[in-house]
Amino acid sequence: MDWQLELIEKEETKVERIGAQIEKLASDLIRFESTNVESVNLCADFCSEWLKSRGLQVEVWENHGLKSVVATVGEGESTIILNGHLDVVPGQPQLFQPRQEQGKLYGRGSYDMLGAVAAMMVLMTELVEEPPACKVILALVPDEETGGQYGSGFLVEQGIIGDFVICGEPTNLKMGIHAKGILQLAVDVKGIAAHGSRPWLGKNAILEALENYKSIVSLDVFQQSSDYFKQPSVNLALIQAGKVFNQVPDLCSLGIDIRYLPGQRPEEILEKIRQINPEAEITVRYQGLPVETKSDNTFVRKLHEIANEHSGNQSVFFGQDGAADTRYYSEKGIPAIEFGPTGANHHGPGEYVEIESLYVYKSILKQFVHQIKNKG
Ligand SMILES: [Zn+2]
Repeated sequence: MDWQLELIEKEETKVERIGAQIEKLASDLIRFESTNVESVNLCADFCSEWLKSRGLQVEVWENHGLKSVVATVGEGESTIILNGHLDVVPGQPQLFQPRQEQGKLYGRGSYDMLGAVAAMMVLMTELVEEPPACKVILALVPDEETGGQYGSGFLVEQGIIGDFVICGEPTNLKMGIHAKGILQLAVDVKGIAAHGSRPWLGKNAILEALENYKSIVSLDVFQQSSDYFKQPSVNLALIQAGKVFNQVPDLCSLGIDIRYLPGQRPEEILEKIRQINPEAEITVRYQGLPVETKSDNTFVRKLHEIANEHSGNQSVFFGQDGAADTRYYSEKGIPAIEFGPTGANHHGPGEYVEIESLYVYKSILKQFVHQIKNKG
């Protein structure tokens, strides 16, 4: 056999072997059905043992009964954080029996984001053999789907931070450098109660609230756009009002979920909403800052270059509508991005990840950390 052919064949077997290793690990993770505290903690214990037995330095952090796994390898001036969440959204029992079909791994969490977690774990074991000239921390967290404050939020508070963060969310090898901010409001609109047969004697809080809502949606702040977003979004998520048919309701509570753009200020949005109906009582129920990682950041550029080499210039920058754990790092001024393998249907019935992309993903991350020496 010609030596070049032999080399290609060797490379192909290596790809298959490592691809199969990542796929097997991802399948093991899917079977944990990590939709509650007990199962996500069992999954964390499994990951911790798996990494320890392969020579990694591992710490398990517990907060509010939830476990996070932190594995470290390498030494150097820069620290790269690989962040993956072990929790998944609930689904039919058969979704937790992973199956392989035509190069795809199907199952709940295969794409969001246990495939990426498995690729990161395999990468960490390879880095034990070939240490990089930087420190690489793998942070596996238990609660991204429910807000992330007990996992990533907690780890950041504990000082487990670095110079650049990659969250392995499903992105089809594209780089999510921006993400919208969250502002969730409870708006209590007051009216005046009256007998239902004489509505003109009262003030209907439901009708008033709906008028207020229309004015909120048409505010100029919600018509703006930014580099990666057409516009912010406003979702009327909850309405509570009215008790009986024969009464004019005197209170209507709205639950409004606002996702605003990087560069917009939540205080300003809130003030504009207050001005619409100064008598309404407005409470901020939840908020999270947007992510605005710069496309010319040294780490971003380096990763972008490598990802493009592997994906045929498919690794474009984009903005993510939903929030992820990137925001906990970005709030501390640490550049963080979402970057994960290729697949489809996350949170849906036909969720899958492309097995080859898991291998490609791991190779991109590996090449990237091996190129990091000094601070970006
Ligand atoms: Zn996710």
